[in-house]
Amino acid sequence: MSGDTRKISIFGATGSIGESTLDLIGRDPQAYEVVALTGGHNIARLAEQARQFNAQVAVTAHESRLDELRDALAGTGIEAAAGQGALDEAACRPVDWAMSAIVGAAGLEPGLRVLEHHGTLALANKESLVCAGPLLMATAQAHHARVLPVDSEHSAVFQGLVGEDIDAVERIIITASGGAFRDWPLDQLADATLDQASSHPNWDMGQRITIDSASMFNKALELIETKEYFGVDPAKIEVLVHPQSLVHAIVGFNDGGMMAHVGPPDMRHAIGYALHWPERRALPVERLDLAAIGQLEFRAPSDIRYPALRLAREVMAAGGMSGAIFNAAKEIALDGFIAGTIGFMDMGAVVEEALDRLSADTGLVHAAFTLDNVRAADQMGRVTAQEIIDAGL
Ligand code: NAD
Ligand code: MG
Repeated sequence: MSGDTRKISIFGATGSIGESTLDLIGRDPQAYEVVALTGGHNIARLAEQARQFNAQVAVTAHESRLDELRDALAGTGIEAAAGQGALDEAACRPVDWAMSAIVGAAGLEPGLRVLEHHGTLALANKESLVCAGPLLMATAQAHHARVLPVDSEHSAVFQGLVGEDIDAVERIIITASGGAFRDWPLDQLADATLDQASSHPNWDMGQRITIDSASMFNKALELIETKEYFGVDPAKIEVLVHPQSLVHAIVGFNDGGMMAHVGPPDMRHAIGYALHWPERRALPVERLDLAAIGQLEFRAPSDIRYPALRLAREVMAAGGMSGAIFNAAKEIALDGFIAGTIGFMDMGAVVEEALDRLSADTGLVHAAFTLDNVRAADQMGRVTAQEIIDAGL
């Protein structure tokens, strides 16, 4: 804490999670001093946010957009910066709390910098844990900094564990809506279009995570995220399809009791919990009327419909840099689907083939958990997945 205000930064401020975070901050602006806000191509929105919250610095990831950002902030006294170096510099500015809401492996390094400078890291960027869980958690420990989960399922588990002993946990169940194609006949999935994959039945999120929800790659990443964050045996982690998206996770204990976290599908709950932790404060989210909702359904996910879940289990068993390879190959496969180069079901095939090809390289997979080695594995995952796509699968 710095005086009465808390210094905060938001990495990925212009995205879905970033906007929801600023929505909460904006309801009590005098409680916060905004240090850095970062974004990508949406310069107009980034400048608008920086002005509204009087940020110290606004950073776009794209160097070519610096002049535009400078012009948009002219006369405000707010610094404008661009590119990876600027992002890194912004992440080194000390804060009490930072939101990690960049999408993809690009979110890892700013998060590490925040932790190195002793800031509390609210982690929406699950890819950080998938690529480099041991590195991220060790960095937090070494600098006496804290990582707080923001992914709704992980926030739910975290809340379910308050006052509990992790050794008494028998199982952790994370739920999945099943995404856009939950009820589609299997033989039609190969022809699913980008538009169809980009609309989620329950959550309003960025496009990439929405498509990952339809393919269940999002839940695959979350399985690994659960293992890395809570340090539990993968055999204890389960996925249930829950179409209503109201029960976010369930923690099962050794006495047979299960604690379910129930709440509206609104990320401001999990963001607000991480923002105010260890307190609970009132949040502007819907209060559920369970009598009107009537039913909560659960079913086991199909491995045929969702090969991503099987791949995540294989990645957890292999360990090491497999998570970084898996995530990188998934990012390239997703790029391919968005660009129309490959079909919806090809994404799983590309990732599986990339993992197969690289798993033989034990030097790569079982390298020590350093940032350089994670970067190398990420790069190999990307190159290999792209080769597979270019060769026509
Ligand atoms: P989004 O696409 O809406 O926003 C992403 C943000 O990151 C934007 O500000 C964008 O400009 C920035 N960005 C993108 N690529 C970048 C790069 N290479 N370098 C620097 N900045 C970059 O994404 P989102 O839906 O807000 O998701 C953000 C993260 O939170 C993801 O890791 C996602 O898995 C996770 N998450 C999101 C939700 C949700 O409801 N949206 C829920 C749980 C977890
Ligand atoms: Mg989630």
